[in-house]
Amino acid sequence: MSKLVSAKPKVGYYFTGRDLQQLNTMSFDAILIADTLSAPIVVRESSTVYDAILTLFTEDVGTIFVVSEDNFLEGALSRKDLLKAAMGGKNNNDLPVNIIMTRMPKIILTTPEESVLSAAQKLLYHQVDALPVVKIIKNGGITKYQVVGRFTKTNITRLFVQLAEK
Ligand code: ADP
Repeated sequence: MSKLVSAKPKVGYYFTGRDLQQLNTMSFDAILIADTLSAPIVVRESSTVYDAILTLFTEDVGTIFVVSEDNFLEGALSRKDLLKAAMGGKNNNDLPVNIIMTRMPKIILTTPEESVLSAAQKLLYHQVDALPVVKIIKNGGITKYQVVGRFTKTNITRLFVQLAEK
């Protein structure tokens, strides 16, 4: 793998252009989300758009997940969702995030047990930047999703570089 990516001082990592067949030796399908997930960044569904924009900056993330008061997944907010709301001219101090978020059951999820390859395919197929990593809680006939992490395109980039450096 080290031949696919090389590093130069002040330039960083770059693709050497060598045979992409070597990518087959990488084991993205053997690595699980549990091995690579990041901490979840969430706001409550009662939070305002202003709070969510502040969280976007302070936590330096591109997607925020929205949880209920008892911590279960309710929705997702992307950069552009928040940008659109900010341009909409309404008072973002008063606007709750649940008005603008993409809500369950439309959220594409992953779990700690899923392979990185399968989760990466979901990111591409559904054209989103991040998936919430959830623990599935079944209670009677009701299924709820506790957010335990996030999996993003940055996780894949980090993994790619780690594998390349090996
Ligand atoms: P952006 O909107 O900044 O380009 P995305 O491509 O990630 O970022 O998001 C596109 C849309 O999909 C947004 O409206 C967002 O609310 C929604 N979204 C983000 N993540 C998910 C997800 N995991 N499942 C379903 N929808 C999502």
